[in-house]
Amino acid sequence: MVSNNKQAKNILVIGGGAAGMMAAIAAASAGGKVTLFEKNEKLGKKLYITGKGRCNVTNACDPEDFFANIVRNPRFMYSSFKLCSNDMLMALLESYGVPLKTERGNRVFPVSDHSSDIIRALADELKRQNVRVCLNYEVKGLLLEDNSAEASAARRCVGVIGRDGKKHYFDHVIVATGGLSYPSTGSTGDGLRFAEKAGLKVNACLPSLVPFEVAEPVCRTLSGLSLKNVAVRLMADAKEIYSGFGEMLFTHFGVSGPLILSASAAATEYLAKGQKLTLHIDLKPALSEKQLNDKLIRMLTEGASKSLKNALGSVLPVRLLLAVLDAAGLDPEKKCSLVSKQERLDFIQKLKDFTLTVTSTRGFAEAVITRGGVDVKNISPTTMMVKGVEGLSFAGEVLDVDALTGGFNLQIAWSTGFAAGTYAASEENASSERKPKEKGKKQKERVKMNIQIAIDGPAGAGKSTIAKQLAKKLDILYVDTGAMYRAVALYLLENEVDIDDEASVTRICRNAKLDLSQEKDGQHVFLNGRDVNPFIRTPRVSDATSRSSAYAGVREYVVASQREIAKNISLIMDGRDIGTVVLPDATLKIYLTADPKVRAKRRYDEMIARGDEADLETILQEIKERDHRDMTREVTPLRQAEDAVCVDTSYMSIEEVVDTIYGLCMERVDKGK
Ligand SMILES: Cc1cc2nc3c(=O)[nH]c(=O)nc-3n(C[C@H](O)[C@H](O)[C@H](O)COP(=O)(O)OP(=O)(O)OC[C@H]3O[C@@H](n4cnc5c(N)ncnc54)[C@H](O)[C@@H]3O)c2cc1C
Repeated sequence: MVSNNKQAKNILVIGGGAAGMMAAIAAASAGGKVTLFEKNEKLGKKLYITGKGRCNVTNACDPEDFFANIVRNPRFMYSSFKLCSNDMLMALLESYGVPLKTERGNRVFPVSDHSSDIIRALADELKRQNVRVCLNYEVKGLLLEDNSAEASAARRCVGVIGRDGKKHYFDHVIVATGGLSYPSTGSTGDGLRFAEKAGLKVNACLPSLVPFEVAEPVCRTLSGLSLKNVAVRLMADAKEIYSGFGEMLFTHFGVSGPLILSASAAATEYLAKGQKLTLHIDLKPALSEKQLNDKLIRMLTEGASKSLKNALGSVLPVRLLLAVLDAAGLDPEKKCSLVSKQERLDFIQKLKDFTLTVTSTRGFAEAVITRGGVDVKNISPTTMMVKGVEGLSFAGEVLDVDALTGGFNLQIAWSTGFAAGTYAASEENASSERKPKEKGKKQKERVKMNIQIAIDGPAGAGKSTIAKQLAKKLDILYVDTGAMYRAVALYLLENEVDIDDEASVTRICRNAKLDLSQEKDGQHVFLNGRDVNPFIRTPRVSDATSRSSAYAGVREYVVASQREIAKNISLIMDGRDIGTVVLPDATLKIYLTADPKVRAKRRYDEMIARGDEADLETILQEIKERDHRDMTREVTPLRQAEDAVCVDTSYMSIEEVVDTIYGLCMERVDKGK
């Protein structure tokens, strides 16, 4: 958690749902002075009805599974989930005195099965953290200051205006007003309107995890009938867009139940465009057509004198049996002995594929979740702050992120709320010390203070990609160490040194004075004051480089030169022992790492993209072996320097990693290191 000793920031959270309560707790525990405005008469009205009143707080799955269950913008969730993961959420709730249990499908609930226990625990924590909670207080709009006089300055949110017209000023406002689903709980899309007014893009909102309306009147007849263990496939013309197994329910308008809600996550966009979908229900998924045929032959023979309706009573509930017989064109009163083979096969076909035409979803009033919302491109995935509007963050369902059922949607609210609160409290400049944020040029001037960034870490963690992008962002030199070895080799060739004579090479290379500079087209290497960039890429130099750089004396000399250069110029270097050996006094040391499986997948993807053959398992094995070798080698084994910051990139995008290191760098610069 981030805390600071500066003057406490005055933070407002709008909305007392899952995201808002978590944001307020996180902001207060990170040192903020926090107020929460909730328009309802109590906190957590929607939380109360979650999980049929039991509140499926999260899902105890692996991170990969968590992201796989997010339908819209899973990558956006990488950073905030890392900050507040499902494990952390569970530990947090248990520390608040709510014991939890994990059920089928890793769904986590309070042991008491009462969502009210979750709400009570959060409300108690808000009290403990001295959050000022104002109920029955509706926010009407944001107070935005347009610093248009300052061409470079961003806009700023300075507070909110209440329903009573009163203006309230804050250093930072977090909008956690939910989406549009179940508006009776208070989620009426206010935050979406605030976002639009602030100039943010809001993506079209659709109900998701929502029942289907169906064309066939048979649903009305079957209304109230619940089916367990059925399989469904949802088709858009010939394309299967969903398949699943579970429980569904017939209603007076169509179909509902957990399986249908999950299917709806794949269907909303199609239906919104007016496309009809077909729902294919396998009423007997455990039996093959052959097994069903054998079973029916037996039943029809044993009940030869009975009507179909009476003989097949154990196959399906009677209302459904009548509907399936009807769909197969069979008279329920027909005597079993008179049923032809084709009629039997038609009946089996309908049992395996009872088809309904889905015409639309139900509305927001019955939707578990809102698809769409504030476009995440507007929002920093790490801090939840709005890009281009200072003092403003969004969290929870108001964002265009949604997931399948199973506790994932609440985890989105917890993670984004936690990130928003944590970073709002630690953001620079409380109101009393407000000043326009430094923009690019100024920031780069700050970095003109001498700064060295060392990026270490295991193979495949993305060191060079990150280092190059960061160098660009900071406008400092990314050191291409290979070019320095090439310059040494050029010197040796120009002075006709026998490259096979290690002693001579080691002695004479020391006369090659190396320097680097950052030019528009990248790094230039200077050899005894001469720019040798144009001469170091020839095949002859390449050959001499690979032979001479094998000598320990040459490597020592180049490393010493790198250290010398780093005294005078801001730079970034990456490698496996940069922080420990080459730049032990670097301003900022980063140990970049990632789960071996993730590194293997990245390498695999690269190879496939290049058109190479690749085997994921082999690559993973190689990476593990290389890690082991690097960590146990006698000379400079791979290890994290004690003063290095470890950045695990497993679930971060390149942009997020660059932003994170950039932020750390700015902190160091500000501390005057
Ligand atoms: C029936 C149902 C069951 C669900 N079950 C589960 C489940 O078991 N597990 C799961 O993971 N997810 C579940 N969900 C989804 C989950 O509840 C939501 O994703 C989550 O609650 C969103 O949290 P939020 O804080 O972003 O928004 P909300 O919970 O909607 O909270 C927003 C709050 O902001 C307040 N507000 C809005 N506008 C203003 C304003 N202008 N001024 C002041 N206050 C305002 C509202 O009154 C509300 O209290 C369920 C949803 C429904 C509808």
